[in-house]
Amino acid sequence: MRRAICPGSFDPVTNGHIDIFERASVMFDEILISVFTNPLKDHAMFSMEERLSMLQEATKHIPNAKVTFFSGLLNEYCKQQQTPFIVRGLRAFSDFEYEFQRALLIKKIDHNLETVFIMTNAKYSFLSSSSIRELAVFGGDISGLVPECIEEKIKNHVIVKR
Ligand code: ADP
Repeated sequence: MRRAICPGSFDPVTNGHIDIFERASVMFDEILISVFTNPLKDHAMFSMEERLSMLQEATKHIPNAKVTFFSGLLNEYCKQQQTPFIVRGLRAFSDFEYEFQRALLIKKIDHNLETVFIMTNAKYSFLSSSSIRELAVFGGDISGLVPECIEEKIKNHVIVKR
């Protein structure tokens, strides 16, 4: 079975991520959407539990998607899951440099791992989790930018935190 891991912070998941998952799901038999915790950049707005629950809700329509989490090195996680493919989304040039370095480093650590890039949908090329966090905090309109089923959760979360 051909499986791939789609790793990310997903803080929170956006329609840009969902678009990548949907397209990856037709290329692989199963995709693992894996939220990772990075203690070096742990300034997440949503807890791991909240991110997992939003992802589960928002990917219900993708039958071959499974939501998981991990902490530590991605290459170790891929080995543990016996999954040699990593799917990442690419937006602008700014993503490219970071993703290029990351893919080469992973390859250097384990030459069996292959990073597959899916180009952003032009509709979502401007969209990032950080822009959603910013919009939500300042009461901006996030409709059409995040899955409809989690829109209220994001808004309520911000109100509770105020
Ligand atoms: P990370 O902290 O690993 O960058 P993110 O949750 O921000 O995690 O992103 C996960 C993946 O989704 C990354 O490969 C990122 O480039 C990609 N991505 C994020 N937003 C979009 C978008 N609008 N279109 C396509 N890919 C995206």
